[in-house]
Amino acid sequence: MALSTRPAAELAPFEWDYVPAPEARDTVSIAPRNQLYIGGRFVEPHSKHYFKTVNPATEEVLAEVAEADEVDVDRAVTAAAEAFRSWSRLEPAKRARYIFRISRLLQERARELAVLETLDGGKPIQESRDVDVPLAAAHFFYYAGWADKLEWAFPNRTPRPLGVAGQVIPWNFPLLMLAWKIAPALAAGNTVVLKPAETTPLTALLFAEICEQAGLPPGVVNLVTGAGKTGSLVVAHPDVRKVAFTGSTEVGKLIQRALAGTGKRLTLELGGKAANIVFEDAPIDQAVEGIVNGIYFNQGHVCCAGSRLLVQESIQEPLLEKLKLRLGTLRVGDPLDKNTDVGAINSRQQLEKIQGLVASGIAEGAEIYQPPCRLPERGYWFPPTLFTGVSQSHRIAREEIFGPVLSVLTFRTPDEAVEKANNTPYGLSAGVWTDKGSRILWMAERMRAGVVWANTYNRFDPTSPFGGYKESGFGREGGVHGLLPYVELN
Ligand code: NDP
Repeated sequence: MALSTRPAAELAPFEWDYVPAPEARDTVSIAPRNQLYIGGRFVEPHSKHYFKTVNPATEEVLAEVAEADEVDVDRAVTAAAEAFRSWSRLEPAKRARYIFRISRLLQERARELAVLETLDGGKPIQESRDVDVPLAAAHFFYYAGWADKLEWAFPNRTPRPLGVAGQVIPWNFPLLMLAWKIAPALAAGNTVVLKPAETTPLTALLFAEICEQAGLPPGVVNLVTGAGKTGSLVVAHPDVRKVAFTGSTEVGKLIQRALAGTGKRLTLELGGKAANIVFEDAPIDQAVEGIVNGIYFNQGHVCCAGSRLLVQESIQEPLLEKLKLRLGTLRVGDPLDKNTDVGAINSRQQLEKIQGLVASGIAEGAEIYQPPCRLPERGYWFPPTLFTGVSQSHRIAREEIFGPVLSVLTFRTPDEAVEKANNTPYGLSAGVWTDKGSRILWMAERMRAGVVWANTYNRFDPTSPFGGYKESGFGREGGVHGLLPYVELN
């Protein structure tokens, strides 16, 4: 940290500024043109088409990436089906060894993965370095442990793998979502064809290299890059036995319709509009940190983001005062800078969606607050934003914004808090802040949400199941529960 170089007259008393602290970019080398990973080899796409992936913080083109068509997807599924014959019969302890090796390699190459994730997706390096990559490694580590203990996971049953899993993941946590999908599938003896999101394919391609480095048998993991069309081909392929999807509720519904009657297994992890509920007896400074973490972490591109703050009326004023002050300290800018708290919006399309919903909030009469902050000229940016005077009918209180935008509502009684929190078509997560353990339990029982955090928010652990109710989807990922969708039980 250094004293600001701005003239003293411009500085408020005790104002400090940070010197730039960029993470070195030369730890990664990005191939200008990237191929599909099928049957243990990097292969040119049958389509001959490539699309560009850009750094959302600078709009710089990072690389060209192959676009898989129907023939490519078929090749990938065929390779996975062939590999399934031997992978599913492999001695479970040996399967565990491969998965454990992947986990160790993710740790060894953590810096490279973190920088690449930040370059391709725009999230702050402190998040990719301290959250995404370590959690991805932890997932492989955890599921490696289950590979030879499946009979203990499902006592008195005989678990058997299903076959080829078709997996489609979004752009908000590219490597971590890959880990959530691939680790349990492999541990249970399945093989996979995975499609990363169009805007963030690069860490998945580096993961393919890691599979090679781990000596994973060819065809056990296959990666088909492309846009939504490629995803729909993976999902629809007749030899895919199980589909796992994370993304928007809209596409989740399309997939559910497409799969109806096919007998394929399906898990959907979709959108959310979580309530973060603060009672008057909550530790207020801790709650402010939890609110900030709940909605501004990863620019709010988080399905379980605490995007609706429900605050007890009696403490609304002091809480909002502290929250606004805290917003002013968030550093928005270069995602590769180690001091950055809020990075770039993932894509122009997502930025436009956020701008549209924020405009609707203003038009519908809510009051907007944004701390003074200078945004970079190039790239896709949106400042941390807070709306007060929000009513339940406003679009900003109902729709998933998927950006750094918080809608503040109030309540007087616990019953009213429950009523308002559950007044959403979604049901992924919720947060409760209170000093009383009994109230936490009382609230948790009544929340229609897959995860309820108490006096904390956005905490993840591979041993803990995660998933939704209602339009947030079904099925669980993580923990023993995360193995269930990948096995048949006799
Ligand atoms: P999508 O649901 O479109 O994308 C998720 C994944 O599905 C991507 O890999 C996408 O490919 C792929 N896909 C798109 N269409 C199909 C299809 N018909 N069949 C199979 N796969 C498909 O989300 P978006 O990226 O368009 O984001 C839109 C909104 O969705 C966001 O603003 C946000 O509100 C929400 N969202 C929620 C997420 C969550 O975790 N709950 C994650 C991401 C988005 P491609 O990337 O190439 O389009």
